[in-house]
Amino acid sequence: MREQLRMLWRLQQIETALDNAESERKGYPQKVRILEGKLKEGERRLQEKRGRLDEVERRRRLLEQEVEEEREKVRRSRRRLLEVKTNKEYEAILKEIEWSEETISQREEEIIRLLEEADVVRSEIPQAEREFEEEKKRYQDGVEEIKRGQEALERKVQAWLQEKEGIIKELDPPLYSRYLRLKERRGTAVVLVKDEACQGCYVHIPPQLYNEVLKNNKIIACPNCQRILYWEEGDEGGG
Ligand SMILES: [Zn+2]
Repeated sequence: MREQLRMLWRLQQIETALDNAESERKGYPQKVRILEGKLKEGERRLQEKRGRLDEVERRRRLLEQEVEEEREKVRRSRRRLLEVKTNKEYEAILKEIEWSEETISQREEEIIRLLEEADVVRSEIPQAEREFEEEKKRYQDGVEEIKRGQEALERKVQAWLQEKEGIIKELDPPLYSRYLRLKERRGTAVVLVKDEACQGCYVHIPPQLYNEVLKNNKIIACPNCQRILYWEEGDEGGG
């Protein structure tokens, strides 16, 4: 019976390990998603800078075009000045030239500001690129690690399943049925005893019964919760 009890305890440990493996397996996609999120964040930061640079350059080219158009207007106006007949017309054209030059001056200031901004953004891009490359590396390493962890876990699961199958074959069928019923009802079927108490329900176990449990050679149920009591041998702390 000692061996049966030991196998029962081991069976429960294996089933707990299998349950934990299942939760771990379920956690993998979430771990990958977190890595993906960081990768996308790095990519977004880089794209944002590249996009900003494009935007600044586009705006600058537009302004340069406007400046060119205004200059052309000024040239036309100056030609017209040579042909005007009245003073009033002359004044009007001068006014137009003045406006155009004002516009040109404003646009040119804006162009300088944009050139400066482009320089700053352009200088930040290599850093963002490096960070993104690092993020990619971290992602690949992370995914690789998760994959290795998964494979190692699958190997363990296979070993546990085999061991479980072996134990079930060796267990007395009525004992196994009892184990299954307890597990169904209580969540755990076999519990350790420690300090004269059942570690399933923490109720005190009478000394005589406790001494029997310590021998591990009989199936003894907790008087309170009915779980099968198990004394982990080598444990000196059972006072
Ligand atoms: Zn109990």
